[in-house]
Amino acid sequence: MHGNVKIVLARPLFHLGQSKLSGTGAVGGWYNRLMIPAFLCIDVEYDEHTPNIGEGPWEGFASTVELVESLREPLAEQSGAPPHPSWFFRMDPLVERCFGRLDYVFYRHGDLIDQLQKRGDFFGIHVHTQRWSEEKNVVYSDYADLDWASHCIAVAAQTFEQCFGQPPLSVRQGGYFLPEQVVDAFERAGIVVDLTVEPGQVSIAKDPSFGGYTTAASTNFSDYPRHPYRPSKSDVSRPARDRGDARSLVEIPVTTFDYGKELDGFARKTAKRVLRRPRGPLPLSSWKKWPDPHTYWDLASRAIDESAVPYFSIAIRTDAPDSLTALRTRALLEYLPKHPISKRLNFTDPTVFTSMLPVA
Ligand SMILES: [Zn+2]
Repeated sequence: MHGNVKIVLARPLFHLGQSKLSGTGAVGGWYNRLMIPAFLCIDVEYDEHTPNIGEGPWEGFASTVELVESLREPLAEQSGAPPHPSWFFRMDPLVERCFGRLDYVFYRHGDLIDQLQKRGDFFGIHVHTQRWSEEKNVVYSDYADLDWASHCIAVAAQTFEQCFGQPPLSVRQGGYFLPEQVVDAFERAGIVVDLTVEPGQVSIAKDPSFGGYTTAASTNFSDYPRHPYRPSKSDVSRPARDRGDARSLVEIPVTTFDYGKELDGFARKTAKRVLRRPRGPLPLSSWKKWPDPHTYWDLASRAIDESAVPYFSIAIRTDAPDSLTALRTRALLEYLPKHPISKRLNFTDPTVFTSMLPVA
């Protein structure tokens, strides 16, 4: 155990006085065109979505650390600010069932975590409300049992505190699942920032991230806000009406854009067949098939410029290093320092918004 290790957690790198924000209704004005707060959220878990029972290294974690290390200098050269991703660790009951202990990543890969602590990166929890089916011998997502969901979050938060000596302040819930009870559990655990929301993502009953299957469909994120907000106590999909209505945490959705429309034009110009093109804003997920990395970052730049609150958030997973999704993610991130947007992105602490966002 690394129980005595001290970490630098959740310290905003800069502050804006509330007076600068009053009356704007959103973070805006002169701040917009300067550095953009950016969040590289890394879900740290085992390589495959459906693990078996038995120990084994999380090789995707090691290779993601290596990728991030290779990007620190080139990104700092572009933006003038050393980049600090947020790492969200799996520490829920399914990890104990499959790998033998809740703090498996800390126990097995403590050297990597030490390295990230020294860099001053930010840490939080990544939680799936999963169970092991004895009957089918496979991991599955239990979305029908909300008490189980709350339990998974409480266990992950306690394990994090035991490992790092401080409770987690940020979370990324896995498997597109964010009912009100889950947000209640975040608040009870002392979470101040949740980066789970994927605006535009409809409710689904089948997805690799669920494991073998799910007992109920995932959350319908189709009309969730596309910018950071303080959610209403009565409905996490709505910004709070006033201070009394506001939950104690901030939601930072992943960055979305109506890329279907954009890529139609791209395909016409290049006569290329690209994505199956959906309509409406959707997450700019790194695992999707993009025409090329430059086009991806062009789309991200457009999304940032059109956002009511200029920010960028992307969530990646520590997939097996040779998997298609890992290779796609790697190609996008390795290209970033070559794209002009890298001059404006400040990969920083997501709790920065907890002091910046007006309540309503
Ligand atoms: Zn996950």
